[in-house]
Amino acid sequence: MSGAAPMDAPSTDRRTNLIGLSRDELAGVMAGMGEKPFRVKQLWHWLYHRGESDFARMTTLGKPLREKLARRHAAARPRVVREQVSKDSSRKWLFGFADGNEAECVFIPEEDRGALCISTQVGCTLTCPFCHTGTQRLVRNLEAGEIVGQVMAARDALAEWGTPAGGRLMSNIVVMGMGEPLLNYDQVAKALTVIMDGDGIAISKRRITLSTSGIVPMIPRVGRELGVNLAVSLHATTDELRDHLVPINRKYPLAELMQACRDYPGANNARRITFEYILLKGVNDSPEQARDLARLVRDVPAKFNLIPFNPWPGAPYACSSPRAMKRFAQILNDAGYSAPIRVPRGRDIMAACGQLKSDSLHRRARAPGAV
Ligand code: SAH
Ligand code: SF4
Repeated sequence: MSGAAPMDAPSTDRRTNLIGLSRDELAGVMAGMGEKPFRVKQLWHWLYHRGESDFARMTTLGKPLREKLARRHAAARPRVVREQVSKDSSRKWLFGFADGNEAECVFIPEEDRGALCISTQVGCTLTCPFCHTGTQRLVRNLEAGEIVGQVMAARDALAEWGTPAGGRLMSNIVVMGMGEPLLNYDQVAKALTVIMDGDGIAISKRRITLSTSGIVPMIPRVGRELGVNLAVSLHATTDELRDHLVPINRKYPLAELMQACRDYPGANNARRITFEYILLKGVNDSPEQARDLARLVRDVPAKFNLIPFNPWPGAPYACSSPRAMKRFAQILNDAGYSAPIRVPRGRDIMAACGQLKSDSLHRRARAPGAV
């Protein structure tokens, strides 16, 4: 695939972007051009299975239709503003959108699979004090097309459109980048529906994990409407500590959050809820807290992800010692839970959990006179 049109095409460009439209919306566009419904399926295949952005190359569509599409529409992804590759092969992209806003996205390759970590907002309105993204004021929610566009731009970069022989590099999606996805639910749901569609990008709900800080009222809808895996950023076992570490807890306290987890549609022992727990030295890493944690989740199908704190400039925390982390994990293991300590990926390029921030804002702030 070549010549992908960037989303930040000049403002004189009056073409509208097709990326991110639902199937029904795309059908509406095609019907408006007098096209029969089967053409929608063909176009969908070109856009999302082949990753084609040049309408002229969509050879199963008639020439007049191709020309009409090219005049009126685009299949635009965000522009790659910067790409960085870590020593450990993680790749981080800073993507630019049509209005000049930017967000980061990280690809984390593993031996037989790979996960793309996508952003749902530019910045975040929540202010978890250990999170770099939380220090950036929210600029805006991303639109469905901008969320799908991250996946498409990553597939462009990895050159794996179509059906690659020998499996995919990008097999999984984690909605764990910048922002709180459940405060932008409609656009996130629309984007994930496009991403899961079996005729297109076709990443199944079993390979998608959505992480939330605990927007309780939206959790049932994630299970019912999307059916993706749920990850909950827990980080503390008492309301007192969680009110501080994850301030949204003041609105949706632990008891309500745990009830939403117990009720999560589709969770069972084969498909557990992941509880993310960041390990902060002297704050939440004692053996007693590990035991409390096991007790807290005892009636939820649960597994843990222990995340060593990833530092960023000016962060008010330190990462727990390797000994404390091991002891913490062991207590959870002894209680019967899987609790791997995540090996931080991409730390050298600030691509690890909680290090994302669209630093274009800092850059502009530091460059007087820059627009
Ligand atoms: N807003 C959502 C998803 C994005 S944050 C949420 O909070 O779940 C993704 C994960 O990174 C969360 O578990 C978050 O707690 C974790 N995280 C944030 N800052 C971190 C840091 N500095 N080091 C390690 N993990 C961090
Ligand atoms: Fe927002 Fe999640 Fe960071 Fe908290 S941890 S500030 S919810 S992105």
